[in-house]
Amino acid sequence: MTEDENSRVMLKPLVFRADDTTPEIVKNVLLERGWKKFNEHVQDVGDWNLYWRTSSFRMIDYKNVKPWQRLNHHPGTITLTRKDYLARHLKHMKGIYGASLYAFSPLTFIMPYEYIKFVAEYSREKEALGKKPSYWICKPAKLSRGRGIKIFSDLKDLIFDCTTVVQKYISNPFLIAKYKCDLRVYVCVAGFWPLTIYIYQEGLARFATEQFDLTNLKNNCAHLTNSSINIAGASYKKNKVGVGRGCKWTLTRFFSYLRSNDVDDLLLWQRINHLVILTMLSIAPSVPFVSNCFELFGFDILIDDKFKPWLLEVNYSPGLSLDCSIDESVKRKLIHDIIELMHFNQTHLRNTKKESSKASGPWTDIFGTESNKYGDNGTSNHWCTFSWAEGIRDRVHETSSHWTNISLFGEKTRVHASSKYTPYNKDSHHSSIISLLGFTGRTTDKDFSALRKEGKDSHKQGITAKLRKKASRVSLSQDFQKIRARKNIFNSIHFFPSSKPCEIKKNATPYFQSDKGIKPCSHAGDFVLIFPFNEATIAATRNGLDLKKVIHELHKLTNKQPTLGVVDKIKKM
Ligand code: ADP
Repeated sequence: MTEDENSRVMLKPLVFRADDTTPEIVKNVLLERGWKKFNEHVQDVGDWNLYWRTSSFRMIDYKNVKPWQRLNHHPGTITLTRKDYLARHLKHMKGIYGASLYAFSPLTFIMPYEYIKFVAEYSREKEALGKKPSYWICKPAKLSRGRGIKIFSDLKDLIFDCTTVVQKYISNPFLIAKYKCDLRVYVCVAGFWPLTIYIYQEGLARFATEQFDLTNLKNNCAHLTNSSINIAGASYKKNKVGVGRGCKWTLTRFFSYLRSNDVDDLLLWQRINHLVILTMLSIAPSVPFVSNCFELFGFDILIDDKFKPWLLEVNYSPGLSLDCSIDESVKRKLIHDIIELMHFNQTHLRNTKKESSKASGPWTDIFGTESNKYGDNGTSNHWCTFSWAEGIRDRVHETSSHWTNISLFGEKTRVHASSKYTPYNKDSHHSSIISLLGFTGRTTDKDFSALRKEGKDSHKQGITAKLRKKASRVSLSQDFQKIRARKNIFNSIHFFPSSKPCEIKKNATPYFQSDKGIKPCSHAGDFVLIFPFNEATIAATRNGLDLKKVIHELHKLTNKQPTLGVVDKIKKM
């Protein structure tokens, strides 16, 4: 590319495609960032970089996606976000890996199929509790925003007319000034092949607007924390003692509240991280291999009075409407950070149709092929390009002033001359450290950059230090041939009937991000990489997902967790 061509390209804006379901905030953020909206009347059909919609895509959309384009849903993830499907996935994992690992999911029955089983459990519990009541919650499988939900104690109050889940009602929630709350935790899966999970360090605590009261199960404003329900409640605008006006806090405020009451918020956050990973693992093997996708999920997590996190549900296209100033501050930055995480940059513009004939169709990785740095604010928001690929330097065969062509698996790939090729480069080591810190816990006490520095300087911190050391020795012996020839594991683990395999993958040779030697960045904005989290889990995802190995690693971590220190003070609140 000549200099002239280069500078013309640099002036061309990125383009997003939107439809009636695209959230306003997404469009606004993209426009703020200088993106242009796709206009099908004047632009070519493939001249866009991102298509973001609330509803799912058709298989043909995945099939037609170009290397420079991204879609905001993976295929098949609906099986995580429908309440009955999720229950089945988690039950399946409990069956294989033991109930204790998945003890974060409340006991759930799917109606009408498991009615008999439920009645047996209900009767067993009733007998065990004697006169004490037991509580259940009944939720229509396909509905959201608290619609159709009922809490009951007596079997005769269980009424349903569609597929419904009946779940153990967590009757001892952690209360703040007697108000129940749950957490909305944002998770971005940048890829399922290999599994790459980011958790967002900011989020929402959503409050019920009436005080918790088990003697009145019909008061939705006391038992449900959905903002759509509470906004319409009589107490929404009231200044509620201990909680304030409205029904939301930021996650930061929630965790600092815990900290100020001597609760180990970092440990709680780590448990939430585990819950997220284990939940994603339950569907990962059944998600078809399709590149160029990412997805934002909203995890609803309830904390009980022993500070155990419970997974209530996972939301598909979590709500991005701005109901209050808290939403405005959290969700706007969330979208900005996703765009950062997706690492859109000017390199995507070079992939015009002229270049598309060289590209490998839908299997090109979603992350582009170049390392890029936004290093000016001190964050290392970049890909550790080629740190996984041994011998990559030998493959460099053509250098120009800006771009270098290298050959990988017979394909030509261009990298910016400033890319770091050296496997042991400072940055890749640095990233491993950050990733481990991110995994180890929230960084609310200290500024994240301070932690990164600490990670760099200190290597004497027990388990974390050992993990860091391990992670810095990123495996260099990538067997390219083996990767090319790896068998299609997609068909081997496929336990969920509704997640049909993607047909298009059969006649393509898929490859992973790592095939191009790209390692996901450790963080972008408030997104922190939580999976893979060490060398063993990197290896366990490289040639397909080795679930057993990953679970083994998680077991090791969870066994090392101390119990959560709770002071009496907070119990009385
Ligand atoms: P929806 O998709 O309708 O929002 P959720 O499963 O998120 O359904 O439930 C809505 C609300 O009901 C939650 O935010 C929470 O406050 C409450 N809730 C749901 N399940 C439970 C449970 N098992 N125990 C206690 N509260 C629950």
